[in-house]
Amino acid sequence: MKMGQIIDGKMVAESMKASIAAEVKELLASGKRAPHLVAILVGNNGASETYVANKVKSCEELGFSSTLLRFSPSITEEELLQAVRDVNANEDMDGLIVQLPLPDHINPDKVMETIDPAKDVDGFHPINIGRMAKGLPAYISATPQGVLDLLAYYKIETAGKHCVVVGRSQIVGLPMSILMQRNHPVGNCTVTLTHSRTKNLVEMCQQADILIAALGKPEFITAEHVKPGAVIIDVGLTRVEDASKKSGFALKGDVLFDDVIDKCAYITPVPKGVGPMTIVSLMKNTLLSAKGLIYPKNN
Ligand code: NAP
Repeated sequence: MKMGQIIDGKMVAESMKASIAAEVKELLASGKRAPHLVAILVGNNGASETYVANKVKSCEELGFSSTLLRFSPSITEEELLQAVRDVNANEDMDGLIVQLPLPDHINPDKVMETIDPAKDVDGFHPINIGRMAKGLPAYISATPQGVLDLLAYYKIETAGKHCVVVGRSQIVGLPMSILMQRNHPVGNCTVTLTHSRTKNLVEMCQQADILIAALGKPEFITAEHVKPGAVIIDVGLTRVEDASKKSGFALKGDVLFDDVIDKCAYITPVPKGVGPMTIVSLMKNTLLSAKGLIYPKNN
């Protein structure tokens, strides 16, 4: 049987990075300043340190300015909210991300809602989620945006297709389901949003022309879930111990790749599938902010 085509997220991400870097050069040539992304990091969570370091590195690669604001885990909620307000008020800063998770004594919803929606390049503010749902200009959260860009790049037809999303998180599954049903060139699907309480998940998945797995359970989706010829987007990214690797761990997606590769039409691998797109989407949102294209700037 013919193997599914691998969607090369790394290659698409590199090509998008090159065009973003070119746009930054144009901005600078026209006398404007570089886009400026601010990251807030509270505490010393190892994974968060890595994510933030990667974002800062991407800023450097693409010619953005970046500022990393580090705070001790003992920072009070009010002190953190004030730091967010200070960034909101700074006209030289275009985008703000607050790396999650936050310490237990800080309410993440309160923090997200304090970020100026015009600087909320993660797209987590309720105003951006609401605007996205209404089809108004909004920052779309990075991972779902990356999936849309991959589908667009590979010219995968979505209109009229049945898209099944597995997982309903605020950052991936839920926005993904809203985006896939929108009346938009990458959209117009009939969408089923599934979660841990869904009955007959296998049968649901078997009906999917486009199956988006975002449940965080390594290699959970197998050939029995897959309709022949389906497009499979594997958002999952879990570290599992692997003594054969130098690092001692391997990254696993939510899909058992070898089991489904002969059954699907397209698939995103893990790694090098959806992952590299996420950071590019964040950069893209920061550029949109610098150019005032989502929320017009006063200056
Ligand atoms: P999450 O917040 O833990 O949400 C997981 C969702 O999956 C929940 O809605 C949960 O249902 C559902 N679920 C769990 N077990 C299920 C099952 N057996 N059947 C059906 N649904 C099930 O996770 P997340 O933040 O969305 O992340 C999902 C995965 O994507 C993770 O592996 C994460 O590392 C990865 N991720 C990757 C990127 C990237 O850049 N590639 C970015 C973000 C996330 P309930 O709501 O009922 O609990």
